[in-house]
Amino acid sequence: MNQPWAFIATCDLVGHVRGRGGPFPKVIESGEGVGWVPADLAISAFGAIAPENAFGALGDLRLVPDAQATAIFPATHPDGASTRFYLAHQRNIDGSPWASCPRTFLDNAIEILDRDFDIQVMVSFEHEFALSRADGSAIGGLPFGFDAYRNVDQFSQDLLATLNDNGFDPETFLPEYGSGQFEVTLGPAPAKIAADRAIILREIVRDTAKRFDLVATFAPLLGPNLVGNGVHVHISLWRNGSPITYAQSRPGNLSVEAEAACAGILEHARAIVALTAPSQISFLRLQPHRWSAGGICVAKQNREALLRICPQVTIKSSDVTKAFNFEYRAADATANPWIVLGTLIYAMHEGLSSKLSIPHVIDEELEQAANVVAMPSSLEEALAALDSDETVKSWFDPVLLQTFISIRASEEQELHSLTPEERCARYASVY
Ligand code: GLU
Ligand code: MG
Repeated sequence: MNQPWAFIATCDLVGHVRGRGGPFPKVIESGEGVGWVPADLAISAFGAIAPENAFGALGDLRLVPDAQATAIFPATHPDGASTRFYLAHQRNIDGSPWASCPRTFLDNAIEILDRDFDIQVMVSFEHEFALSRADGSAIGGLPFGFDAYRNVDQFSQDLLATLNDNGFDPETFLPEYGSGQFEVTLGPAPAKIAADRAIILREIVRDTAKRFDLVATFAPLLGPNLVGNGVHVHISLWRNGSPITYAQSRPGNLSVEAEAACAGILEHARAIVALTAPSQISFLRLQPHRWSAGGICVAKQNREALLRICPQVTIKSSDVTKAFNFEYRAADATANPWIVLGTLIYAMHEGLSSKLSIPHVIDEELEQAANVVAMPSSLEEALAALDSDETVKSWFDPVLLQTFISIRASEEQELHSLTPEERCARYASVY
């Protein structure tokens, strides 16, 4: 009855986690993984396989679990067993990498940044999400309020314990600005581990919420005029264990290499946001004055910037070099974290290769700053920018990219007659 069981999973192009169960530890030790279907990569947020896809009914893959990318989910009932969860690579049946695997895409990005520049990336994902009670009633409480915090005390204690027990290094759990909105942050980790944790963390949050008769959603917006749920990605650059992001005398305190890396992201931002915020409602969130990302720029401690240079806290120590980081603010949970981070790393690689620089690090409100490039105002505009950016397209396996684009078309098709309110409700129900 209590036989240990493992769930072997991938994260797809809409950020959903799917996979198969198998007996533990057999399925891990065999190294052969479990079967998987190529067309599963083409499933939209709402569960239908995008009709335009390269796979059809053909082919087979293996989900080969990574013993390092794991977490234990507590039992869901008193005499049940816990579930061991593993993230996997999607591999061909001979074990070779499958070119369209999103986790392999991130591996490749990490590898070329290391190979060409000897740079490693440390990353921390911040996640915002909304909670409601299973009966539909609101959590209540003030923005950032202690009452909001206490209203979900049992949930948050259990959540933080699960994150802790799995070695995820939770740093903060906080009531956010929106009604029923909360945020959880993890400490920085090497890029691949951070992206894996981002994927697993969402499942842990949803799973924990369910066990406390709550419903968690990471949808970017619950209503067009409500507060957005962002995914912010904090990045610092390292070489051989030493931080290389900070330079005291330079604009924004960005080292020459960090500036080039940021410039690569800015240069391709209008295409990149299609990959990091790919839903039909993502661009309702990415508007000015929402503290999401209101303009394509690098700015000091500014929550409207696409890239925000984070503060240097010197209360206890004057060595700011290790904690110094910048934050990409235009991602949301409808994107796959492996794709988000892989894309940002490729963009940084491009900035370094082309020795790009930033015209101006902004340190005022964006309205007062000159030459801030506007964000695309819709996913359609971002997808058009992606279509005309040959550099960004070259980072992807063509089938992977085509599948990504087909999914967007299929979601557009599915939602096109809905109002913005209805669209938000649809996404809230599946994220
Ligand atoms: N909720 C904002 C967003 O949509 C972020 C607010 C914050 O800076 O924490 O990204
Ligand atoms: Mg926040």
